[in-house]
Amino acid sequence: MAEETGTDKGDLIIRRTEKGKSVFAHRNIARGEYIVEFRGKRYTREEYKQKLNPSNNHFLQVGSDVFLGPTRTADNYINHSCDPNSGIRIEGSRVNLYAIRDIREGEEITFDYSTSMDEDFWEMDCHCGSAACRKRVRDFKYLPLDVRERYIQLGIVPGFIQESCYTRKQG
Ligand SMILES: [Zn+2]
Repeated sequence: MAEETGTDKGDLIIRRTEKGKSVFAHRNIARGEYIVEFRGKRYTREEYKQKLNPSNNHFLQVGSDVFLGPTRTADNYINHSCDPNSGIRIEGSRVNLYAIRDIREGEEITFDYSTSMDEDFWEMDCHCGSAACRKRVRDFKYLPLDVRERYIQLGIVPGFIQESCYTRKQG
């Protein structure tokens, strides 16, 4: 059963899968193309820790002390993959998702949750099924160095994550 999202010109479709709700491309999306904006109310870290549902976490960290709360639009239902086809860029006050490779119509949209995680609080087991699956989704700083560098080169690691990761490591 498909539900049209009505957001972002119908480029995305939310469907129920065995993973819960998932988001699929409704057309071919080229590498580098904008996909969707993440919205939601902004919460502090303390508020996030009180409000999150650990088994169904729909918060997104977008600053060292800023977490976007759940929404009911497609941005809320994009699943994690250890081999993602999209990534986050924070542009001014906007949090946007871009394709990091060509995505075909019908393909699930995914990003690597670790690219925006610097919390040492919530983690989750991963069953994404990719050959590169890390089995556990944790903060960016725990990613293997080559994975971190690849994501940084792709431009999908927000500044607050890089600053936190590298000042702490070197300091
Ligand atoms: Zn995985």
